[in-house]
Amino acid sequence: MRIAIPRETHPGENRVPVTPEVAKKLVRLGAEVEFEAGMGAGSGFADQEYIDAGATVSNDREALFRNADLLLRLRKPQRDEVSLMKRGAIHISYLDPFNEHDLVRALQEQGVTAISMEMIPRTTRSQKMDALSSQANLAGYVTVLLAATHLPRILPMMMTPAGTLKPAKVFIIGAGVAGLQAIATAKRLGAKVTAFDTRPVVAEQVRSLGGTFLEIDLGETGETEGGYAKELTPEQIEKQRQAQKEVIANSDVVITTAQVFGRKPPVLVTRDMVEGMQPGSVIVDMAAETGGNVEGSVPNETVDVNGVTIIGQGNLPNQVCRDASQMYASNVFNLVDDVWDKEANSFKIDFDHDILPGCVITHDGQVTNETIKNILEGGN
Ligand code: NAD
Repeated sequence: MRIAIPRETHPGENRVPVTPEVAKKLVRLGAEVEFEAGMGAGSGFADQEYIDAGATVSNDREALFRNADLLLRLRKPQRDEVSLMKRGAIHISYLDPFNEHDLVRALQEQGVTAISMEMIPRTTRSQKMDALSSQANLAGYVTVLLAATHLPRILPMMMTPAGTLKPAKVFIIGAGVAGLQAIATAKRLGAKVTAFDTRPVVAEQVRSLGGTFLEIDLGETGETEGGYAKELTPEQIEKQRQAQKEVIANSDVVITTAQVFGRKPPVLVTRDMVEGMQPGSVIVDMAAETGGNVEGSVPNETVDVNGVTIIGQGNLPNQVCRDASQMYASNVFNLVDDVWDKEANSFKIDFDHDILPGCVITHDGQVTNETIKNILEGGN
């Protein structure tokens, strides 16, 4: 089986889908691995490291697409790339299938088997393939570092002959994978941390990291079978906003990581709440790129609202691209390894497999994923 790894072309993207270590493992599986020259450069991996791992370098990007049986990528493919792929080729990457309807249709029509890394089921067995978690974990860490470098104060308490500095107060909204890592990071830096999440099971996890859980009675909230938050009603959101208002006004840093899978993130920090914060305070809106948890945040920009800094930078794992690449590459390898047919020496698409049907979006000219099919056909 010919595995191709083209260079990532998205502006500013430094993460890479395969590290030399993972290339070596793919070669050991029995695959022929070919990569585009310069593919690893963003994360500091030289072509020679991949060649030493047993892969072959190519300068012909188009030929890589045309000849590949399996393409390993980070970002979704471009439309012109889809038309290069052969029927039956397998393409693994982030795909954003909830929003990229035309792209999904193009992959279907081209007869490509498209696997979406966002759609790997969140089960215990598939944790090692879960790129959403591995990247969110790093993003959570980065949010705190960004806040710390923009805050005109330090995070820990400091007792010195020149006086005592109080610890900074950090409020984290959304304590999923990213939020929990943000709590842990802020605690390590000595901040006083409070957090809130609509899933009640999270309270204990927040406390075990040394944070205070803000109790808000929103009535029925709960989580889906996959462990995701359920969407709140407008009344519940308003209740949450009011209950958070005072904590936000008293915080030096607010970090928002609230997401509802497959939906637009809720606006949880309104303009008046931003204006209620002390000048010099910092807000990091991790959801800025997908709609925002904070009124006034701008995707990929840092703005000043009445002296409050709002950071809307996207692609946070890219800030720690070396580790992010290593984790993403491991996630992809663990998926390939799990479904690799040793006798046929190939990636086997098997709809009886426990993980594949959830993350295969198109196969053999069909949209096979039920959720996405439903959306494309005008359902929910
Ligand atoms: P996510 O990115 O979809 O959401 C981030 C957080 O925002 C979630 O904790 C969610 O509850 C929270 N949220 C949503 N609306 C909110 C609101 N109005 N106010 C405050 N918070 C709000 O979620 P995620 O971080 O990718 O994962 C969430 C959970 O999924 C995990 O904590 C875990 O329970 C489960 N999970 C399980 C596995 C596994 O078993 N393999 C892997 C990953 C995640």
